[in-house]
Amino acid sequence: MSVDLKDLVADVVKREVQKHRGKTKYREPLVGFAPANHPGFGELKRAVGPEHLLPHDLLPGARSVVAFFLPFAAEVVEAHRRDPFVSRLWAEAYIETNELITRACRALAGELAALGIEAAWQEPTHNFDPVSLRSFWSHKHVAYLCGLGTFGLHHMLITPSGCAGRLGSLVVSADLSPTDPPEREFCLYRREGRCGACVSLCPTGALSAEGLDKQKCYRHLLEVDAFYADLGTCDVCGKCATGPCALGVPEG
Ligand code: SF4
Ligand code: SF4
Repeated sequence: MSVDLKDLVADVVKREVQKHRGKTKYREPLVGFAPANHPGFGELKRAVGPEHLLPHDLLPGARSVVAFFLPFAAEVVEAHRRDPFVSRLWAEAYIETNELITRACRALAGELAALGIEAAWQEPTHNFDPVSLRSFWSHKHVAYLCGLGTFGLHHMLITPSGCAGRLGSLVVSADLSPTDPPEREFCLYRREGRCGACVSLCPTGALSAEGLDKQKCYRHLLEVDAFYADLGTCDVCGKCATGPCALGVPEG
């Protein structure tokens, strides 16, 4: 039964992406799974912040966690690379993909409910404390525990399809066999001690090999939001996600 359910989850996410009629183009979605009692979820209270929720906080009957990655098409990345600021297409992709993730979560919850399975999720973004900027439910850390990738020097998750895209996740009341984690580091810096393109690409100096200054980064995101005020909320930058790990795992 669990294999069928995993296929169903992957099919629903894929279907929602195919139904998308916005400007953003995508590559094939990735889906990963973890048990709700994975000890890593408890560790997120230390790694992310004490406010970080556990799967059982979202859903008392939680048995598994599902994460999915919607990778942007190369043209979205290329437009962002070419633009000295944040490209309009990248800003639109941020907004459209957040909406798409919400639709995918709703569709998944509906399909699972028809099978008597409960599901709960957090919105794809803006689920963080506005002062500390710490997330209550960090999709990238959840996706990491679901075996979708490894963290890069830029503090984003690098999946087999790169890091340029967005993540969503749900907690469900069914047992789903876990996804095996990657067997190697996907970031060149973490694997071989070289690259660092993301640091060079950062326009604010918020990112360095020593860490990420979240407040400095977020100030820039708010500037972008103000610049694209006609689009809606788009506090996004992601220049650091346009390097060699944008569209796949970089090889040496
Ligand atoms: S740009 Fe290079 S150093 Fe930065 S996260 Fe990607 S692979 Fe790692
Ligand atoms: S999102 Fe932009 S400002 Fe923030 S670390 Fe990445 S490149 Fe720097």
